[in-house]
Amino acid sequence: MLKTKKKPQFGGMAPKHNFTLNPYPDLRVSRCPFCEKKTGQRKIPLLIHVDPMYLIALNYTCRYCKTCDLLVGNKHAIEHLLAKIFYETDSYAVGNEYLIIGTVEKKDWREGLHRPKDLAEIQPHVSDFAEYYEEIRVSRPGWYPADQELPMLEPPVSQEWVKTQFDSQRSNSTKK
Ligand SMILES: [Zn+2]
Repeated sequence: MLKTKKKPQFGGMAPKHNFTLNPYPDLRVSRCPFCEKKTGQRKIPLLIHVDPMYLIALNYTCRYCKTCDLLVGNKHAIEHLLAKIFYETDSYAVGNEYLIIGTVEKKDWREGLHRPKDLAEIQPHVSDFAEYYEEIRVSRPGWYPADQELPMLEPPVSQEWVKTQFDSQRSNSTKK
């Protein structure tokens, strides 16, 4: 799998754990995409930045490969949890760009939405991911000739973390 471009380090602690997203809602990553050993589970607070200025600490159970120190998050499950939080706080942010930055030390963890003023408070307790890999892709099931490259199964688009029509109407009307 390809590594994504390194972002400037956010967290005050040394980077740890590798991370990737599984974009298939029905795929349980029971084996590690790198070493193919059985994965376990690891409940860990993920720190997520949502445009324009939100920080969310989300206590989330990832699939985890101990050998590769790889956490695998389910994209649709995470977006479901994000949508739930934002519909209660700022529904206009639903569907905005987001980035899963890293993990927060458990003892310093407080789930929920963090305001920009919390940034200085939370930053020293954050570890960026050591490597952030591109989303997992699997091949489309079926029989193919041996010399054919396996076609990729296109992951479904986000269902819940999307701009609703109401929101786009509103932003159009405010632009006038
Ligand atoms: Zn592994």
